[in-house]
Amino acid sequence: MKLSFLGAAQTVTGSRHLLDNGDQKVLIDCGLFQGPRIWKDRNWSEFGVDPADVRVILLTHAHIDHAGFLPRFAKMGFHGAILCTPATAELLKLLLPDSARLQEEDAAFANKKKYTRHEPALPLYTEEDAWKVLRQIQPVDFYKPVSLGREFYFSFIRAGHILGSAMIEVHNAGQKIVFTGDLGRPSQFIIKSPDLVSSADFLVLESTYGNRLHQQVDVKQKLTEIILRAASNGGTILVPAFAIGRTQELLFLLRQLEEEQRIPQLPIYMDSPMAIDAIAVYDRYQKDASTELEALRLRDSTPFLFPAVHALRTVEQSMTLNDMVNPCIIISSSGMATGGRILHHLKRRISDHRNTVLFIGFQAEGTKGRLLVDGIREIRIHGGEYKVEAKIEYLDALSCHADYEEILLWLKNFQKPPRQTFLVHGEQEASRSLADKITQSYGWNARPAQYQETVEL
Ligand SMILES: [Zn+2]
Repeated sequence: MKLSFLGAAQTVTGSRHLLDNGDQKVLIDCGLFQGPRIWKDRNWSEFGVDPADVRVILLTHAHIDHAGFLPRFAKMGFHGAILCTPATAELLKLLLPDSARLQEEDAAFANKKKYTRHEPALPLYTEEDAWKVLRQIQPVDFYKPVSLGREFYFSFIRAGHILGSAMIEVHNAGQKIVFTGDLGRPSQFIIKSPDLVSSADFLVLESTYGNRLHQQVDVKQKLTEIILRAASNGGTILVPAFAIGRTQELLFLLRQLEEEQRIPQLPIYMDSPMAIDAIAVYDRYQKDASTELEALRLRDSTPFLFPAVHALRTVEQSMTLNDMVNPCIIISSSGMATGGRILHHLKRRISDHRNTVLFIGFQAEGTKGRLLVDGIREIRIHGGEYKVEAKIEYLDALSCHADYEEILLWLKNFQKPPRQTFLVHGEQEASRSLADKITQSYGWNARPAQYQETVEL
């Protein structure tokens, strides 16, 4: 059996791993490279396998860095089945067409501004390509073994990262390979926690937080302080949020704080059509919910849409927020402030000291979110310069990735060490550092995977 790392090696995007047992080629995740140009350009370079030769794609979860290359891969000749959990399949219906629209907008913008190196700039894929590839998806329930060939099968187990997220256990001729995908934290607010794994011959492990720990803070307490301060200043709290997962988690916590009367009832504007649609998916997949969310649902069948929440779908509705002067909470995508409606709100509000910008997730290198969290004093948005006067807060305890201590704790459940552990999905330092920690703590063979490397298992 051969395993090739075709992406997410020394970086956090473009997850693509290829398994080849001599009979079959199976791709694990088909992610888009995102972020600075040096990564994005990889979406245009050789994939590392002929798409027509791949029989099946197994997806860990719906995030674009794990699934966002699918439409392009199909366009390049992939005709096989895409297997993922039912909730992931539903979320992809929101995420892939949206990703296509961004690709199309980027290409149009590059052509208009004439900063393209290819004439004319083309999108990686169109919305039509996205809808087309969605027809290749076949949902598979958690824990159900699915045959891929002789003595070759897999099953999904819970990763506790976002709704529908899975780890993949692949068995081939008596060997077991586990792909963690993105691994969630042990106690989740709205979804079930990651399953424990006790054995693997080979482990492909994510390392986003391989060299960092989450803040040791009481999330609800910190959120209370941030909201009380902004409200007493008469300011707005602007939350750049990922439409799927973090937004719903935040709504859940805000609702709890309101009901516990720890914060005043501020209007909450959910300025993201995708986040609104995702709520419906969360409501449909109740068996994936945490016990707390389950309990809340018993007394309210729409736990995320409580009276303070206003769902804004259209651009016109979004624009009405510009004139809003009373304290309120605006939740808007994208989570790292790389694009989307949040940029308009930032332009409008970042230079007012009464306001707060609250980041609630990992901020990748090169993003506006990272610059702001790192304390930049002036930020460039849509060609204009804006003084950063608003208070910048970073609440990474809401992150949906396990930090290195949580990963080490999760690894403790292994009864014996895997023969080899490969670290993927982490910036260079993070993967290196986690490999060292695993070796020091448990004496395992662990090392970062290299881009385009093939290993014999
Ligand atoms: Zn993810």
